[in-house]
Amino acid sequence: IFIVFEGGDGVGKSTQAELLTAWLTSRGREVVRTFEPGDGPVNAQIRRILLSRATENLSPRAEALLFAADKAQHVDALVRPALARGAVVVSDRYVDSTLAYQGAGRVLELAEVERVNRWATDDLRPDLTVLLDLDPTLGLAGIADADRMEAAGGDFHARVRAGFLALAERDPARYLVLPARDSREAIADAVRVRVAALLG
Ligand code: C5P
Repeated sequence: IFIVFEGGDGVGKSTQAELLTAWLTSRGREVVRTFEPGDGPVNAQIRRILLSRATENLSPRAEALLFAADKAQHVDALVRPALARGAVVVSDRYVDSTLAYQGAGRVLELAEVERVNRWATDDLRPDLTVLLDLDPTLGLAGIADADRMEAAGGDFHARVRAGFLALAERDPARYLVLPARDSREAIADAVRVRVAALLG
């Protein structure tokens, strides 16, 4: 079972991924908790290029392809092997992040970014995507040392948020959308209810 947390920067994805991982582990499941971009030796190098404030003039298509390369490596080296041995994989971000950030945020054609990412992941799709939705000015306000993407100005982050919500509307069966301003425990409870139903 493949579960993904999505949402803008500073919405609490890692906290919720941690809480879900602890809960699943306490129920005796093997859980592999992971994240994009950057989980793995190759991935860490790609992450450095993508997020360093020293990276200048990275073209939107090059950016999209580097995120896709991170995903290809992540899926092949880590996610598929874990799923194959029956582990639950809990990932902080996946393909929908790139559809929101590079598609909606950078204004690249959504269908094309999607096609590249389907190929990169050999069409591996999550069983459940939890979207933590928050006004980006609130999420970003809590971030001390903004990376290259977090520092993107204008209405970039507003487009990202709208992009995520549009993806959730397009695919409601796979999505659980929760207001990120709800309490940590309320969110964790709602996620558990949904995951328990998945586990059967
Ligand atoms: O904090 P986190 O590990 O999620 O950092 C990933 C960074 O990469 C964030 O700043 C996020 O805005 C950015 N990102 C992106 N496009 C993606 C995934 C993440 O710009 N597809």
